[in-house]
Amino acid sequence: MTARSLCGLRAAFASRLARRQVRLVLVVALALGWLLSGVQIAIDYRNDRQSQQESLDQLVTSTLSTAASAAWQLDGHLARVMCEGLIAHPAIHGCRLRLPGDIVLGDSRKPQVAAWLPFSAGLFGGERRLELPLRHQGQQPVGALVLEISPANAINDFATRMLVTLLAGTLRALALALVLFAAFHALTIRPITRLSRFLVEAGERDFATDRPPRPHHRHDDEIRTLEATTLKLMHRLGSRVEELHAAKLALEETNRHQEARIRERTLELERTVQAMKRQAYSDPLTGLDNRRAFFEAAPRYLEHWQRYGEGFAVILADLDDFKAINDRLGHDQGDRALCAVAALLLRTRRQGDVIARFGGEEFIGLFKVSTRDAALEAADRLRREVAALAVEGLTRPLTVSIGVALVRPDDTAIDGLVTRADRALYRAKHDGRDRVRDDDRPQIPSPGE
Ligand code: GH3
Ligand code: MG
Ligand code: MG
Repeated sequence: MTARSLCGLRAAFASRLARRQVRLVLVVALALGWLLSGVQIAIDYRNDRQSQQESLDQLVTSTLSTAASAAWQLDGHLARVMCEGLIAHPAIHGCRLRLPGDIVLGDSRKPQVAAWLPFSAGLFGGERRLELPLRHQGQQPVGALVLEISPANAINDFATRMLVTLLAGTLRALALALVLFAAFHALTIRPITRLSRFLVEAGERDFATDRPPRPHHRHDDEIRTLEATTLKLMHRLGSRVEELHAAKLALEETNRHQEARIRERTLELERTVQAMKRQAYSDPLTGLDNRRAFFEAAPRYLEHWQRYGEGFAVILADLDDFKAINDRLGHDQGDRALCAVAALLLRTRRQGDVIARFGGEEFIGLFKVSTRDAALEAADRLRREVAALAVEGLTRPLTVSIGVALVRPDDTAIDGLVTRADRALYRAKHDGRDRVRDDDRPQIPSPGE
């Protein structure tokens, strides 16, 4: 067997379909072979038995007259010779010529052969003894011929032939199985296996672009239809995959576009929100924080005071006689003065301090100071800076009155501090303006005091 045919055989048995087919073909062929062998054996047995019986009958019939003569003439020699002749038959192993009164005229026997086929005792009539009466000239009884018959030889012959028949039947069945399998393999298994391998390989690859070599089936039958239909389906599937791929790319592109737009919009929105927040918390004229920003920042200062003892003061500053500026120089000039003061406050503000426009010509601050003196000192510095501020268009220097309220241990809300600072501011106005007062008593004497 060549290496190529060995490979072919191995490939054929690698297929599960082929292995199933082999099993089926073997079972069917062996069953058929053994059935035929069984029938053959039965016919053989019938023929064997018949021919054995006939030969036995013939022998006995032809011997009976000789036996009767030997018995009539009391010829012992003839009787022995005749018995020797009879036991030469394979089925007869004992022969005796018996005269009336149980006198034995001739007696021959040969060793009995054992039948080696089990359960065969009943075959070919089984062990038996034939006692044939002898008559002289067909009238007067002269004795009997006793034959001992054994089927052992016939059984052994038959068994040998039966084995040969069975063996031949099995070989024939195997040969038939091989031929049938080869035919099935060539007709169906090989093309189906090829098609299946092609489909598996195609499924593992990206067959839209990279197709494995297609199987070749030259017969115009259902397998070709299967192959052609499958290829057509695969082709359509490939086109769909390409379309889907293109759609996916387009979708991804659209998504990227959308995401970029959403990011842009979100940024815009965030910017708008920030701007609105700034607007909501800042004063449009001066750009300072407004009253709302002040009240949102203040609780943080109170919390730090309560937790860590970090002191602070509320400074409320009101420009003096501002109405007169408006009245004399106009509202715009008044605005410019407000902006100049706001710019000054921003410039001089220390880190951590809050400065806001409280309304009109009033400004409010949260200064991080821990003592009353430091608070009054910071407020007075502010007062002096305003007094020294040169505002274009103003004929007289601006002055400011300031009320100071230092946080106390019993303060729980900012409103109380603001009220105290307002009260101190009122006192500063009342005492002649351009001065600082706190909610307790004046600490720093104002100029002219
Ligand atoms: P006092 O020393 O008692 O504080 O006198 P005053 O004139 O400053 O106080 P009053 O409350 O009588 O007047 C405040 C003025 O501030 C009235 C108003 O016209 C002016 N004012 C308030 N807001 C603005 C503003 O945004 N721009 C301008 N130009 N003037 C403002
Ligand atoms: Mg005022
Ligand atoms: Mg004022």
